Amino acid sequence: MAERYLVPDYILEYKCSCCTECCKRRRIIIDKGTVEKYDQLAAEDEELSAMLNEGLQKDKTGKASVRLKDIVKKTTVEGNGEHKDMVSVDRSVCPFLGSEGLCAIQKKHGIDALSDTCKIFPRTIFKTGRGFEMALTYACKTAAKTLKNKHTVEFFQDPPGFDFPDLHGQYGRIGDMLARKKQGKTNYFDVEALLIDIMQFREINVDTRLILTGIVIDKLKNGDILSIRKYLQSLDETIANLLMSLPSQPVFMMKLVKEAVDKRLFSRITEKDMALMISRAYNELKLLDQPEIADEKVERFLTAYRKYYKPGADDIDHVYENYFVNFIFAKKYYTYKYMDAYFLMMFFYILIRFFAVCACMAEGRQVDEDIIVEVISAVERSIGHNTTYYQDVLRLIKEGGYHRLPYVISLVNL
Ligand code: SF4
Ligand code: SF4
Repeated sequence: MAERYLVPDYILEYKCSCCTECCKRRRIIIDKGTVEKYDQLAAEDEELSAMLNEGLQKDKTGKASVRLKDIVKKTTVEGNGEHKDMVSVDRSVCPFLGSEGLCAIQKKHGIDALSDTCKIFPRTIFKTGRGFEMALTYACKTAAKTLKNKHTVEFFQDPPGFDFPDLHGQYGRIGDMLARKKQGKTNYFDVEALLIDIMQFREINVDTRLILTGIVIDKLKNGDILSIRKYLQSLDETIANLLMSLPSQPVFMMKLVKEAVDKRLFSRITEKDMALMISRAYNELKLLDQPEIADEKVERFLTAYRKYYKPGADDIDHVYENYFVNFIFAKKYYTYKYMDAYFLMMFFYILIRFFAVCACMAEGRQVDEDIIVEVISAVERSIGHNTTYYQDVLRLIKEGGYHRLPYVISLVNL
């Protein structure tokens, strides 16, 4: 029987540009099924056998990881009145990547010989009752460019002609009603559709859509989607304006960014675009360099926000809309508790907006979709795929007392 797929239009349009960046810097895990297949192929292919012996590190579970070759670079960064060494990987490459930019395994044995990781990237896949559902990860710069699409994302069930290579099971799963009930998410697909509808509701700006999402997530505790839809239909401009006039908390917004960066990113960042963004915020603009966020720093940030960001905000809403629609369709609201997924979404928004304002300040230019797409891609390459970091962020939000809904909402308004 033919496989079923549910895919957004940007997956159908996406075409790998063969830049080979995803064959560098990443820790690549080879699934058990692929390792077994490699063993079979290697039995009849001496050259492949030698390549695999040198390039793969097998583990006890039957999986393997690729031995990347790292070239490390050290940079000294000033922060909190002291100097810290930031280690960044200048270049590290999968040993199977040939000098002509082609994967030696794929070249010899075709795309089916690749591991699930290599076949799937830059997609994320969940198997559900609707088929294989695919989203993108914007760690791939070519994938990130699809964020510039101005039309509202549409979804296609079993689009004619669409196919995908067979996989060994390295994807997420959402089971039947019983399985979803165990997760406390019986009506998950209705929730997903509702959240995407809110995110695509262009009558209001993205900030208001995010605030509204938080209110809806809070109401989900009652589990009644129909009454939430009715509530949304009754929303008028007055309520939208009221949401936007909630008191803002720029100091706490900057404090959250600083804590997140200090705790995990500062010394471990291995991605050069993210390292540049952090260096700008700490060294060049001196917004986060002190333990406390002084009023003068907040004022400078807000002045830059009003000068460079706010006037162009309407022109970048579609980028955020696409980013969050993908976040939702990538099943983050299934993987995490509803409210936790919302906090993560808000955290990424705050982080991206902060670094975008820094980029505008450093370059003295108004925000545009290129800046937002670059920041999103750098953030995704650094932490977007890191589930441990997601857990750290959630811990940070809870420990810092940021996790009450009105408080999170107040971090959006500036
Ligand atoms: S980074 Fe993206 S565009 Fe470049 S090779 Fe990988 S998947 Fe293709
Ligand atoms: S195995 Fe091939 S496709 Fe996968 S990372 Fe290495 S070179 Fe790239």
